[in-house]
Amino acid sequence: MGSKGREIIGMDVDELLGLLRRAFCDEWLAYHQYWLGAKLVKGPMKDAVGAELLQHATEELLHADMVAMRIIQLGGTPVTKPAEWYIHTNCGYEAPDDPFVKTLLEQNIKGERCAIGVYKKLLDITRDKDPVTYNMVLTILQQEVEHEEDLQALLEDYELLVRAMKE
Ligand code: FE
Ligand code: FE
Ligand code: MG
Repeated sequence: MGSKGREIIGMDVDELLGLLRRAFCDEWLAYHQYWLGAKLVKGPMKDAVGAELLQHATEELLHADMVAMRIIQLGGTPVTKPAEWYIHTNCGYEAPDDPFVKTLLEQNIKGERCAIGVYKKLLDITRDKDPVTYNMVLTILQQEVEHEEDLQALLEDYELLVRAMKE
């Protein structure tokens, strides 16, 4: 990257690159989990849930893009092999083997909670140290918070629907 751009970073760039590379793996796995879940989802409210999962998939892919661009800008290389996503991920991958709406919502809520923790940590370590990464992380964190909320709201609607059907 440019010399001055690197000079303003008040922290260990290699340490930062390590964390960003892990986040990159998380984003690809999250993208895939949502993308496939959106196609497989079954049960009550499957259309609404499928649309939300697909929207989130698109946003996770954009996160992967943002993180990759910053890694490259910092002079690093994003993880190049999908097989390594599993090795370096923070949040892992929950296969949508059970396509039931409730299961998919719960799996993805778990993923979002992990992502929120990961980006909060990145936000804390880049604050006052690397304003460019900080700004990107804040943008992503805002969307992960929104994702968790969207999925929790759908799960609540699902529970209310199930209750109404029993009455
Ligand atoms: Fe994301
Ligand atoms: Fe997300
Ligand atoms: Mg959404």
